[in-house]
Amino acid sequence: MARRVAVIGGGSSGLCAIKACLDEGLEPVCFERSRDIGGLWRFEEQPEEGRASIYRSVIINTSKEMMCFSDFPIPDDFPNYMHHSKIMEYFRMYARRFDLLRHIRFGTSVCRVSKSPDFATTGRWEVVTESEGKQQSDVFDAVLVCTGHHTDAHLPLHAFPGIEKFKGRYLHSRDYKDPQDFRDKRVVIIGIGNSGSDLAVEISQTAKQVFLSTRRGAWIFNRVGQQGYPIDIVFTTRLKALMQQLLTSSMASGFAERQLNMRFDHAHYGLKPKHRVFDQHPTVNDDLPNRIISGRVRVKPNIQEFTETSAIFEDGTREDVDAVVFATGYSFSFPFLEECVKVVENQVSLYKYVFPVDLEKPTLAFIGFIQPLGAIMPISELQCRWATRVFKGLSTLPPRHAMEADIKHKKEEMAKRYVASRRHTIQVDYIPYMDELACQLGVKPNLPLLFLTDPPLALEVLLGPCTPYQYRLRGPGAWRGARAAILTQRQRVLQPLQTRPVEENSSASVLPLLRKLAVAVAVFAVIFLLL
Ligand code: FAD
Ligand code: NAP
Repeated sequence: MARRVAVIGGGSSGLCAIKACLDEGLEPVCFERSRDIGGLWRFEEQPEEGRASIYRSVIINTSKEMMCFSDFPIPDDFPNYMHHSKIMEYFRMYARRFDLLRHIRFGTSVCRVSKSPDFATTGRWEVVTESEGKQQSDVFDAVLVCTGHHTDAHLPLHAFPGIEKFKGRYLHSRDYKDPQDFRDKRVVIIGIGNSGSDLAVEISQTAKQVFLSTRRGAWIFNRVGQQGYPIDIVFTTRLKALMQQLLTSSMASGFAERQLNMRFDHAHYGLKPKHRVFDQHPTVNDDLPNRIISGRVRVKPNIQEFTETSAIFEDGTREDVDAVVFATGYSFSFPFLEECVKVVENQVSLYKYVFPVDLEKPTLAFIGFIQPLGAIMPISELQCRWATRVFKGLSTLPPRHAMEADIKHKKEEMAKRYVASRRHTIQVDYIPYMDELACQLGVKPNLPLLFLTDPPLALEVLLGPCTPYQYRLRGPGAWRGARAAILTQRQRVLQPLQTRPVEENSSASVLPLLRKLAVAVAVFAVIFLLL
């Protein structure tokens, strides 16, 4: 009999978890507390208790070729940066294509997960669920936790004296839906992550005035990168990752900061932080400088205190405000698992952010509990592919002391690199982390061999965006379509933009080819010298 796996949550992580189980011949049973798939990306005016919530206009910050599942490219005609409705369309296509829905029990919450009495020998779990007021208990061979980490609002009211006497309205960005309630109001937004900056831009279209309050400033990236390509397509390449390793972090930061300041000087716009550009989770917003230069958004320091009608900032200035939006991020917890896994101040100790280290059997895995510089979906997918192989005993975890040393090392590296903040506890870099997982599974692309056997593919793997298809070229779960998907990825980026026929500038089309050839010659020369 196939071993049964409980998948908790039917968001994007839960969907790829079901598929990974099926691919490995395991029997998934997915419990989703709401009535539909999609998790955070299914917009509703009033989402169910315990599900993440987004605003009506939200557009994703990771582009389609970088965020797709590795064996299911997003259709050619879908835009590079998708509105949530388009993302849901893609998830529904994925669920249909791999027949995932029949494994999901909707309207069913997992209330408790505990070790079965024979756990030390079997690794089994007792899972208690609740549906329509009735509780049920069942035993599973393994559990994949896919409950997301953007559900519980972090609302630090204690840090804002006087908020209790403030007579206006205050809310967390989680509860923001659209700007209509803020028309002609004076609004202060606290926090300059992606929520704070998106909301400042949107609310400032109709509000009387928006103030964007930040305690340390931020470097602002554009979605639209060089030559109009999505920024993650431009930056997430193996060559750039290699080059970054060769530079000191100060040189890499200096280079990036110069580029960002060429668009607008962050000091002139009141945004310049004390920290370097790579020391903070990136804020991506093409429109924010426009709203600042037109005076609709005014950047302010942290708020020292509130009065009944105003905010007093740390520089002593005071502004009358009608509403406050706390775009102060999220906390995560696993209330159904309290005995096994502890979360302290948004920190959790998991081997490669997936496996607890202190279990007699590795039959519990956490999926999607990372904050990547890149998209979460392909990372969740690779985590699931690894976890299911571990459940089956086809991949083994190192001894506990080695896992603890790895966790400690990662925590130290994170603390060294990032400014201290509760939002920087599960940070990962896309390519290094994906490669690390891929090594566990044996699916990391073998570049030297590719150069010898398939040079055009090797070139695109090295120089092109490190798209998720790269992890389907070989090893368990290899997909025959991966090569073609990689060689056609640039067409899928351009196609949705080509809505009006234009004559291509001939030098523009030749230049990238020449550049590619020059890099190829350089790469071949290096390989030749190394051999
Ligand atoms: P979720 O989408 O949160 O799904 C979790 C599911 O688990 C939900 O359906 C919930 O109902 C269910 N659940 C929870 N607890 C239980 C339980 N006890 N029993 C049963 N079911 C349960 N990520 C990116 O990669 N790129 C982006 O550009 C990006 N933009 C974002 C924008 C916003 C505004 C926010 C808030 C987040 C963004 N994210 C982005 C991160 C986002 O979390 C991921 O994209 C993605 O939604 C994670 O999927 P998930 O399945 O892990 O979690
Ligand atoms: P976030 O990234 O955690 O940012 C929280 C912000 O609030 C930070 O600026 C933080 O400042 C500030 N903050 C927290 N506590 C504070 C306090 N006590 N006093 C003052 N400031 C405080 O949260 P988020 O912006 O909601 O983003 C959550 C996730 O959703 C991220 O992954 C983000 O990329 C994603 N997102 C994406 C989009 C999009 O794709 N369009 C839109 C929104 C969100 P410090 O840095 O100083 O701690």
